[in-house]
Amino acid sequence: MMSEAKTRLVVIGAGPGGYTAAFHAAQLGLEVTMIDTRANPGGVCLNVGCIPSKALLHAAAVITESRHAVEFGLNFGEPELDVKKLRAWKEQIVSQLTGGLGQLAKKHKVRFIQGLAEFNSASSLSVKTASGNEELDFDYAIVATGSVPAKIPGITLESDRVVDSTGALEIPDIPNSLLVVGGGYIGLELGSVYSALGSAVSVVEFMDSLLPGVDRDLVRPLERKIKKSFSKIYLKTKVTGMSETKSGVAVTFEGKVNETIEYDRVLVAIGRKPYCSGLGLENTKIELDKAGFVRIDNQMRTAEPNIFAIGDIAGQPMLAHKGMREAKVAVEAIAGRDSVYDNKVIPAVVFTDPEIAWAGLTEPEAKAKGQDIKVTRFPWAASGRALTMGRNEGLTKMVLDPETGSILGVGIVGAHAGELIAEGALAIEMGAVAEDLALTIHAHPTLSETVGEAAEIFTGFSTHVFTR
Ligand code: FAD
Repeated sequence: MMSEAKTRLVVIGAGPGGYTAAFHAAQLGLEVTMIDTRANPGGVCLNVGCIPSKALLHAAAVITESRHAVEFGLNFGEPELDVKKLRAWKEQIVSQLTGGLGQLAKKHKVRFIQGLAEFNSASSLSVKTASGNEELDFDYAIVATGSVPAKIPGITLESDRVVDSTGALEIPDIPNSLLVVGGGYIGLELGSVYSALGSAVSVVEFMDSLLPGVDRDLVRPLERKIKKSFSKIYLKTKVTGMSETKSGVAVTFEGKVNETIEYDRVLVAIGRKPYCSGLGLENTKIELDKAGFVRIDNQMRTAEPNIFAIGDIAGQPMLAHKGMREAKVAVEAIAGRDSVYDNKVIPAVVFTDPEIAWAGLTEPEAKAKGQDIKVTRFPWAASGRALTMGRNEGLTKMVLDPETGSILGVGIVGAHAGELIAEGALAIEMGAVAEDLALTIHAHPTLSETVGEAAEIFTGFSTHVFTR
């Protein structure tokens, strides 16, 4: 008997979306080729995104924590910074993880090609590699080419002093002054790193608040902290010009502030845009929307029935875990399984100090839609664990259906909010009601109790907050 030929899948881009897809496809018995311009899988997230930024944020947190310890009688003195060692530590984490993924690809028998892929048609592509061109035919393809930093429209200053997130993560040095253009999560995370490492950091944001679009209740405690640690925060202000001077970059502001101010270095972090340059999409029927994202259905299928798109290239929110979930759906659809993207929530985390995390419906979103909701707030000043950590600025907030008590959204600001949000995401996915969380025993003393108590407030029986 002839053995059935395996379905040939090619995955273009080996970021968190791409490598998750490749490994899952191998698990389901497909013949997989994964292509990326980098030497190992990992993409933006592992090389110049999530992982290096969190490594540096950890170093920043240690510095901040050691300063804070003075308040309870521990004086470590000012930290001595060895930038070279910090850089090497961060790079070692990146190479350990990306190297590990390379090994895992081998174990899964995924063929990895380092090169630049370009579609010739909806069933073949060319890969430009260091040793020449390779042609590949495929039954299915998954596009996971990710995103790149956006540039400020109309400002084209080419200077070592003006960097994007990738340049900032290299920590070439610690500038005396740094302007962060953009008050989104990437700007604030990297601004926090440089601030802890000793730079006078200013941030300029076009909108009227930091982290535009995020619930103000969650942003406020961070804003209060940043106001103390950063040099200046310019809101409702835009950058209209930049020019290099002998000693730095002169930046012209327009809006609430109308001045030209010089900085040692400028970090442009105004967002990211989907990336599919040179991919030869014109040789297929794949369509892009106005913002440049590949149009997909709820199985991640593009206008070409055998080509799928996942991750940053396939739409907002541009977060690694969104792409990883989409990867599984796309691969399962290719394998003929009955899988659709039907997740209710994608948790989001801002890894600043304090952290901000939310999942599901937010209070401002509900208000904008005119949706009837009940909101509960558990202030961390009433949490024993938060106080033992000196972190009473936090807040755990829950958005619920007033009739049924269904949990529709959870928002948290405070230490480890990024870890705590997992319970909220699970509760919403499982259709939990307030009572489910209120009756779940949360270990004491932990920050997770604040989630249980936010639910208890809805039931009217909170132990640590007086609600009558
Ligand atoms: P990517 O990770 O962008 O990878 C795409 C890969 O495809 C790249 O390696 C690229 O070189 C390759 N490629 C592109 N075109 C081709 C081609 N034609 N041929 C071959 N290869 C190609 N997200 C989070 O969830 N949490 C965080 O904490 C977080 N922090 C971040 C911090 C920073 C500073 C940045 C910049 C991003 C951060 N993100 C974070 C976002 C996260 O990195 C992205 O959402 C994620 O990497 C997207 O994954 P992806 O698989 O879509 O593609």
